[in-house]
Amino acid sequence: LELYGIENWGAGYFDINRKGNLIVRPSENDPRAADVKEIIDDLARRGIGTPVLLRFPQLLTSQVRKLQRAFRNSIREFDYQGAHMCVYPMKVNQHRAVVEEYLREASRYDFGLEAGSKAELYAALALEQSPDSLLVLNGFKDEEFIEMAFVGARSGKRVVIVIEKLSELDHVLRLADRYEDGPMPMVGIRVKLYSKGSGRWEKSGGEAAKFGLTTTEILEVIRRMQEAGRIQMLRLLHFHIGSQLTDIKRIKNAIKEAARVYAKIRQMKVPIDLLDVGGGMAVDYDGSRTAFDSSANYTAQEFANDVVYTIKQVCEDENVPHPTIIQESGRFLTAYHAMLVTNVQDEIETVVEDIQPIEIDDDDPQVIIELADLRETISAKNYREYYHDALEHRDELFTLFNLGLISLEDRAKGEVLFWDVCERANRFARQTEDVSEDFDELRRLLCAKYLTNFSVFRSVPDHWAIDQLFPIVPIHRLNKQPTEYATLCDITCDSDGVVDKFVDLHDVKQILELHALTPGEPYYIAILLVGAYQEVMGSNHNLFGNPNEAHIYIDDDGYLIKKVIPGTNVGEAVERAHYDRGQLHEGFRRRIEQLVRRGELSEAQGMELVEYYESRINSYTYLVNGSTPSRRL
Ligand code: PLP
Repeated sequence: LELYGIENWGAGYFDINRKGNLIVRPSENDPRAADVKEIIDDLARRGIGTPVLLRFPQLLTSQVRKLQRAFRNSIREFDYQGAHMCVYPMKVNQHRAVVEEYLREASRYDFGLEAGSKAELYAALALEQSPDSLLVLNGFKDEEFIEMAFVGARSGKRVVIVIEKLSELDHVLRLADRYEDGPMPMVGIRVKLYSKGSGRWEKSGGEAAKFGLTTTEILEVIRRMQEAGRIQMLRLLHFHIGSQLTDIKRIKNAIKEAARVYAKIRQMKVPIDLLDVGGGMAVDYDGSRTAFDSSANYTAQEFANDVVYTIKQVCEDENVPHPTIIQESGRFLTAYHAMLVTNVQDEIETVVEDIQPIEIDDDDPQVIIELADLRETISAKNYREYYHDALEHRDELFTLFNLGLISLEDRAKGEVLFWDVCERANRFARQTEDVSEDFDELRRLLCAKYLTNFSVFRSVPDHWAIDQLFPIVPIHRLNKQPTEYATLCDITCDSDGVVDKFVDLHDVKQILELHALTPGEPYYIAILLVGAYQEVMGSNHNLFGNPNEAHIYIDDDGYLIKKVIPGTNVGEAVERAHYDRGQLHEGFRRRIEQLVRRGELSEAQGMELVEYYESRINSYTYLVNGSTPSRRL
């Protein structure tokens, strides 16, 4: 089905098989494929229900290769004299499985890591990197952070401390005196560029950016390092103008400016030889290949070409050697490898339905008789006019009710009739492909609300926080035309817990085409491209914990479930909010004991309740009672 645009945003990793199921390939044009529905059924047989995060480590590897190949091609094409090395920013997804999988492939090209906090650095110091790869440290640092960097250098890592604030230099110079009898870290400086990025993270660049040194501060760092006799430590110039940079023109401008700063510093007899162009390579989430927020108007190859060519041009112009290009791409490497699969639990009723069939008689108020008449005679010719009439009658209905002139039963009848007219008007508008605003709004009001077993705040926080779009696709029934227009409601008690914006090639869709729910049959959907930022920024809202997780390897026979990590259980979720299991059990038991003492419960009943309560400590925080829609539709 072209409807979901898989071929636009899937980067060759996703497709639909003959059974109508979503499949995943380990790399573009690879004949091997895993059927996601089969994986979910297999996991269900093992007691692992939805929601479940599926990790496909091979996609991470493929992205690393894609990036490495793109730069290798550009370096050859433009006869660039320096190398290219990546450092993966751990903050994008610090999960051990992700970082270790990255390092397995990355070490072949001397790609390293970037850490932005003491905890990330702590983890990185123990991870196996190739000897020539770098460990770049960004973010604000105290003396302890910087000392850990010196210890890292002593342990044999090629550490670069990037100075974000002048005060960090004081710590560096002091510690250099203490640690100078062994290998020392290198120093980098982050420059605040005049050039800005494009897209949601535009504010990360420009003169008012939170991070980076101004030109005078850079000169001051150089002066102080020279004065302290430590200028040989200054090896790297870094900039980062934001994540998800949608527009290649802006990237080129920033590189031009940064390369010029690099060249000028180099000309000051500073032995700088690493130019770190930050992260920001965008992922085309909607497949539109535009500078729109959730897209990118360039490919990896175009990005690499622009970076390499621009740096070369500036360096030749300034007559300085070509630096090694360091790149901190995170989103581009990790976004594709993870998807959240979950079940639609039910449909939420939002319009008034007649629970009892309504009967109209001559004694009914005039407004009801007129609404009933509209309902009977609405047609493809008059639906616009009748819809507007119905709106007026509804206002009248409420005015009469507020004046005490009609009964509660009359009001109920009127509401049912009004929504019946709306539904019919909406059907005619659909048939006639009416795109006027009135019916757009009505369509949104009348669309199905699919209650979906997940938390937006846990699994796609960027959708809630910054309207980031993620592709969403059913994992089965893809050989059947969907018949419903729907939005997704999550299971948190928060009206912001909805997904009501969807990827589209030309615009943002307000509704998603999905299949009608069949009683007794599960309906599964996947939210894709969630491997970057979402997992690690997700929150505990409503104490929904981590979903179940499975690591999938795609092989000649389909798939292999390599690892299953059960999601957070209720006990772990309450502990995150600092409740103590023992105290909770004790508290519940005490309350039951009081009831038993007062004779309101027998001892056996009390025991049963206590046992039940205590056994629930291991429940999944998500809905488990049947992953099938319960309502007859
Ligand atoms: N480097 C730095 C300094 C960052 O702040 C970020 C994130 O914004 C990145 C690298 C990673 O960016 P991206 O994931 O867009 O490649």
